[in-house]
Amino acid sequence: MRIHANDGISANGKEGLEKAGFNVSTNSVPQAELIAYLNEEKADVLLVRSATKVPKELIDACPRIRLIGRGGVGLDNIDVAHARSKGVLVINTPGASSISVAEMVLAHLSGLMRGLHQSNRLMPATGATGFKELKKRFGKGRELRGSTLGIIGFGRIGQWTARYAIGCGMEVIYTDHTCTIGSIEVTLGGASVAIPVERVTMEELLARADAISIHVPKQPDGAPVLGAAELVKVRPGTFIVNTARGGSVDEDALLAALSDGRVAGAALDVFVGEPEPRADLLAAEGLSLSPHIGAATVEAQARIGDELAEQIIAWSKASVSQG
Ligand code: NAD
Repeated sequence: MRIHANDGISANGKEGLEKAGFNVSTNSVPQAELIAYLNEEKADVLLVRSATKVPKELIDACPRIRLIGRGGVGLDNIDVAHARSKGVLVINTPGASSISVAEMVLAHLSGLMRGLHQSNRLMPATGATGFKELKKRFGKGRELRGSTLGIIGFGRIGQWTARYAIGCGMEVIYTDHTCTIGSIEVTLGGASVAIPVERVTMEELLARADAISIHVPKQPDGAPVLGAAELVKVRPGTFIVNTARGGSVDEDALLAALSDGRVAGAALDVFVGEPEPRADLLAAEGLSLSPHIGAATVEAQARIGDELAEQIIAWSKASVSQG
C-alpha cells in the first residue's frame, strides 16, 4: 500500500509505517500538481497537515485514495463530508499537540505581561545607549501568580492551558458551550491533585479576567468569539492570547482596543488571511507574534507521526480481515 505525506511526517511515524510494510513518500508536491502525482504514484493514503488542501475535486479525481489523514486538530482543509460520502475514511490526531499549544500560550502570556515582546525588539537598537530609559519603561511588568486567566473553550487545549496556568499560580475561570467540570487533575511529582476551576458566563469572564486565552474551533457562522462587542467589556489593561484560529479575535476590534488601552497587549499565533497576514496588524505595538507554530514542536510532531501510523496500521489490518 502506498502512502503520500504531502506535508511530511515525523521520522518515527514514517519508520513505523515502513516497518509495517507501507511505501511512504514525503516529497512536498505543489497543490496544482497533487492530483496528477497521487494518480501516477497510485497512492492509497494521503496524509496532510494544514498546508495542503483536500477539496471535493481532489477526492473525486483520485478514486484510489481510501484514507485521508490530518496530522493535527482541525479538519477545515479537508472536505470531510464529501470524503465520507465517497467511503473515504478521514482521521486526525486531535490530542497530540494540546500540550505544545498550552505551553506556547504561557510563553506568550508571561512575555507579554513583562513586555519582553517589546524589549526584545528595542534592546538591540537602543540597549547600549538608552539602557536606563528601557529599564524604566519595562520596569512595570505584571506577574502571572495571583492573576486570573479566563479561558474561552475548555476542551483539550483549554484544559492543558489551565494546568500550566495553575502551575504558575494563576486562578482559572472558563466558559464553554458543553464542558461543565468544576476541577481539573494536575499531576505534580507523580501525585495527582484536583484543583478547582470555575465555569462562568462569557460576560463574567470578560469582566473578571486579567488575561484571556481562546481555545474554540472555527465557529459555524465564522464569527469571532472576541469581537468589538466583547472587547468593550474586558477589564482595562487585559491581555489576550489567540492560538485558536485567525479571526477568533476580530483583528480590527483588537487594534482599536490596543490603541485605546483597554487591551494592554495581545499574542497572536493565528491570523486572518494566512499565510499573508495583514502588515498593519504585524506592525502594531503591543503584539507578541508567532507564525502559527502553536502545535509545531519536535515532541508534538513525533506524537502526531506515532498516532497517524498506529491508526493507519489498525485500519489496514481491519480492512484486510474484513476483505
Ligand atoms: P476541543 O474540541 O477539544 O475543544 C474546543 C472546546 O470549545 C469545546 O469544549 C467546545 O464546547 C468549546 N466551544 C466551541 N465554541 C465555543 C464558544 N463559542 N464558546 C465557548 N466554548 C466553545 O478542541 P482543542 O483540541 O482544544 O482545540 C481548540 C482549537 O485550537 C482548534 O479547533 C484549533 O482551531 C486550535 N488549534 C490551534 C493550533 C495552533 O497551532 N495554534 C494547534 C492546534 C489547535
